Amino acid sequence: TEELLRKTEKLNVAGQLAAGIAHEIRNPLTALKGFAKLMCHANEESKLRYFQIMQEEFNRIELILGELLILAKPQAVAFHPYDTTAILGEVIELLNTEAIMSNVIIELDYEPNLPLVKCERNQLKQVFVNMIKNAIEAMPTGGCLNVSVRKVASGVAFYFADQGLGISEERLPRIGEPFYTTKEKGTGLGVMVSFAIIDEHQGHIEYQSKLGVGTTVLIQLPAFS
Ligand code: ADP
Ligand code: MG
Repeated sequence: TEELLRKTEKLNVAGQLAAGIAHEIRNPLTALKGFAKLMCHANEESKLRYFQIMQEEFNRIELILGELLILAKPQAVAFHPYDTTAILGEVIELLNTEAIMSNVIIELDYEPNLPLVKCERNQLKQVFVNMIKNAIEAMPTGGCLNVSVRKVASGVAFYFADQGLGISEERLPRIGEPFYTTKEKGTGLGVMVSFAIIDEHQGHIEYQSKLGVGTTVLIQLPAFS
């Protein structure tokens, strides 16, 4: 019965996800259809405006599908032992311009001689990108994001501690639900995808937050042995 229960649960999750995707794609699609129709009879000036709106809607669909495709793993998945601080460093470099533009300073500190982690490099990179982006977005007027890496009994622990808006106790359980977002242009897929990736790495992810104070995301990954 337990196995059956798990299967039903999985089916439910798949159904909910499918409904969410359908809904999220249908909105921009409906808009696209409408504007395509308007285009037929519009003057040059309006055409340009419609075209710009249509481009935004196309981008929205692309963004949603792009995030979902990470879950689908079209490329060959290869787990190898990696120095995760090097991956973190790369991601921070990648997002530093974005951080600076929001007055966010990213600090990275880690213990020496950390164990290697067996991971799928691109996927772990994606998790770090999602965590750091969310932290930056949580600090619209700037602040500090402290990223630290420690050795723990089970392997390696990563802390992403921001001084952002925080998450209220009522909203905390919703973090990671597909399509749950509080942002105007958010997709609500980043955390869900990250949960799935960390799960696949036999790791653990946890949110601690205080409204108006900040959020700390703790990610634990087992050491390569
Ligand atoms: P998105 O960033 O597109 O909204 P995510 O799945 O990345 O989607 O995040 C879902 C929601 O979780 C966000 O909209 C936000 O409300 C909340 N959240 C995630 N990380 C943080 C954080 N560091 N600080 C505050 N809220 C956060
Ligand atoms: Mg996000």
